[in-house]
Amino acid sequence: MPEPPTCGHSGTVAAVLPSGRYCHYCRRYGPEFLRPCSRCNRIDHLTAQLCRHCRAADALAATFTDDVLRRQPKLAALNQHLRDADTDYVVSLTTRRSNVWRTITAVTALREPVTHDRLDRLGTMRAVSQVRSLLVQLDVLPSRDEYAIAFQALAAREIAALPHGPDRLAVRQFVRWRQQRTDTTRHLTMTQAANDRNELRVILSLIRAVNAASATINTAQQATLDSWVVSVRTPLKARRFLLWCATSGTNTGLVAPGYQRKPFNLGGKLTGSNEAALRRALTEDIHPPRIRLAVVLTIAYGIRVHKIVQLRRDALALIDGRPRIRFGTLDLELPVVAAPWVESILAGTTVRNRVGGRPGDEIWIFPGYRHDDHMLPGSLAAKLRAIGVSPRRAHQAAAASLITQVPPAVIARLLGISLTTATAWYALAGSNIEHR
Ligand SMILES: [Zn+2]
Ligand SMILES: [Zn+2]
Repeated sequence: MPEPPTCGHSGTVAAVLPSGRYCHYCRRYGPEFLRPCSRCNRIDHLTAQLCRHCRAADALAATFTDDVLRRQPKLAALNQHLRDADTDYVVSLTTRRSNVWRTITAVTALREPVTHDRLDRLGTMRAVSQVRSLLVQLDVLPSRDEYAIAFQALAAREIAALPHGPDRLAVRQFVRWRQQRTDTTRHLTMTQAANDRNELRVILSLIRAVNAASATINTAQQATLDSWVVSVRTPLKARRFLLWCATSGTNTGLVAPGYQRKPFNLGGKLTGSNEAALRRALTEDIHPPRIRLAVVLTIAYGIRVHKIVQLRRDALALIDGRPRIRFGTLDLELPVVAAPWVESILAGTTVRNRVGGRPGDEIWIFPGYRHDDHMLPGSLAAKLRAIGVSPRRAHQAAAASLITQVPPAVIARLLGISLTTATAWYALAGSNIEHR
């Protein structure tokens, strides 16, 4: 039965001195075991008669030999860096057999100068990453776009796992095309890399959906895309890929989901309030003629109030008893019930609120408080809201029904939106029967 330590710790005895019996911990760290180094006389806990400084220096000398530094002169910088480093750090590095030290010794063992590619072959990306950044920091290796490279590796793996050749080809070409478009003088940030990974993930989800419908990306049907779009959280992440599919000829039949910067519901229904207001305007003689006209233009035609207030009286006409209104070069027919309003407006608009003004306005259908100026859009919108009209919703609902029937250029003029927006809506509405 071995006697217990007298140092006050439990465990087995590791060393016996005249002062008592000591455990393993005390033998390594206790002040009783400090000795002068056999080489440099530094007082330390010795291993093989040597202090930590001498052991660290020996480990470095054994690793960075003359032979190694002749083969890879640039490693002198790493050698110097470690010599200047904190001794405890170097000792723990070399004795704990860390990934870092294992990688460093593997690098010094290379027959040819270390490169990123050679470093890649020494271990996983994660295992060699610390040494890589140290080598880049010391100018042994040029800096490299690590996030981009990690993404390329991920993409290559995912693409190889796709079951169908056409899908592999399309995604590979798209990833390459994207890469050519990024600014290679600047490294990818962590956020950009995360975005790229998300985009790839969504594209792969689309391809799985397409495959499930017994197709590949180049034979995929819009119906498959449409049902996929509503089944995923971020379908817009596949937008760039789908646009690329169209321009590259991979699949020209697919219409990518669009961005909806302004909330705009294609095929939006008339709200109850707008429908009631329209019916009142058409059938009841409550509001002045120009307000009834504004209600019809807003709800039935989706024309925005800033366009309506700019209407001049000479834009209205009664031709053979049929009321018409002109927006720029566009001539619109108005409902027949509007004929008396048009007649009344053409007969002269009474302006009561203008201080010292003329009783009528020669120019505008919706005259403002100031002479020679039309009403402010906000004022008309307020008047419309006061009688239950929501101009914005009306615009959306009416635009939706117009869009499928009128060319984009006309819609753009009529609704006061850009031609690009109108074309996008038109494409979206025209491509999808359900939205009509
Ligand atoms: Zn002890
Ligand atoms: Zn020493």
